[in-house]
Amino acid sequence: MSKILIRGAKVLGGEPQDVLIEGENIAATGSGLDAEGATVIEAAGRILLPGLVDLHTHLREPGREDSETVLTGTKAAAVGGFTAVHAMANTFPVADTAGVVEQVWRLGKESGYCDVQPVGAVTVGLEGKQLAELGAMHDSAAGVKVFSDDGKCVDDAVIMRRALEYVKAFDGVVAQHAQEPRLTEGAQMNEGVVSAELGLGGWPAVAEESIIARDVLLAAHVGSRVHICHLSTAGSVEIVRWAKSKGWDVTAEVTPHHLLLTDELVRTYNPVYKVNPPLRTEADVMALREALADGTIDCVATDHAPHPHEDKDCEWAAAAMGMVGLETALSVVQQTMVDTGLLDWAGVADRMSLRPAAIGRLEGHGRPVSAGEPANLTLVDPSYRGAVDPAGFASRSRNTPYEGRELPGRVTHTFLRGRATVVDGKLA
Ligand SMILES: [Zn+2]
Repeated sequence: MSKILIRGAKVLGGEPQDVLIEGENIAATGSGLDAEGATVIEAAGRILLPGLVDLHTHLREPGREDSETVLTGTKAAAVGGFTAVHAMANTFPVADTAGVVEQVWRLGKESGYCDVQPVGAVTVGLEGKQLAELGAMHDSAAGVKVFSDDGKCVDDAVIMRRALEYVKAFDGVVAQHAQEPRLTEGAQMNEGVVSAELGLGGWPAVAEESIIARDVLLAAHVGSRVHICHLSTAGSVEIVRWAKSKGWDVTAEVTPHHLLLTDELVRTYNPVYKVNPPLRTEADVMALREALADGTIDCVATDHAPHPHEDKDCEWAAAAMGMVGLETALSVVQQTMVDTGLLDWAGVADRMSLRPAAIGRLEGHGRPVSAGEPANLTLVDPSYRGAVDPAGFASRSRNTPYEGRELPGRVTHTFLRGRATVVDGKLA
């Protein structure tokens, strides 16, 4: 059985400890553990976290392998410290049947870099008209628990209500991309001072907030679970905070880019900043950080959205929406939440591993770093500083908003069930 000793790492940012991995599991934690027969990783000064879990990843396969495949996307995930990702359903064909979710699930198994949990579509073809075969996707080998039409909003209240009723039977959750379609027709960026100055079509905060308000009420009415994808406004935070105060089963995520970037960047007209939901204002960014710190927002999710060069290297209006995010997520969270004092590393473990695994009802991930648990682990050097160079990405796509930007921290090692997928910052 393979043995790896991680020596002197700060587990969840606490006192330095040794962690011994034997085979697929953590065998022991403590000080001065016996290194006999083990590969030793000297980890003084580094932070050891449970492997990160992403609730919101676009792997693009099947159908858009020119932007990402399950293999390249899971490599990017491993580099970013992730041991499990939820693959969104807006592929070609759409993941709206047991056959397609099983295909994605199988490709994930074959990749070996990161566990892939397929998300099933809520409606057939993401068209918002007819409920997809939610039960068949749940009962398939892929065991789907999270359903989402992400990229599109389930805007029909009756369909949303039926989906919430349906997933209750197997403790599933509907993850809503909250975007009222009529209010965002022709929208190109956040509606506000900057959009007015630039003369670009505005995307009002209320288009997001009105859907969230409706859906938390529907979830409460039905007694079911709803998860809100990528919160981007201060108003959305207020609605989720109110819903939670009522005791309703509502959870929410925020992306790294909405914790750092604002709509001022759109003045550059660089389509790398074009994203859905759009970058908002400084006040929104501050409200999102505060909400992630106080637990109103449960978790960070990347919304990793790879696009080929030709879909981003064009004029603003024609460019595709989305950013890659797996390989920079932890660094952005360190900069915006840890280095600002809003969250400690135990908080990062909670928001990027424990909580997302719990929301997705994902087994074997988001577990404590203790003996007997699966060795899904991420080792981080928080003192590292370096400029982001997309040329070195494991992702097939390069559409990062951070090119050339100095970000703190680096994942040095990732372990998936005891096997190193990343060693010294490079794919193993
Ligand atoms: Zn979305």
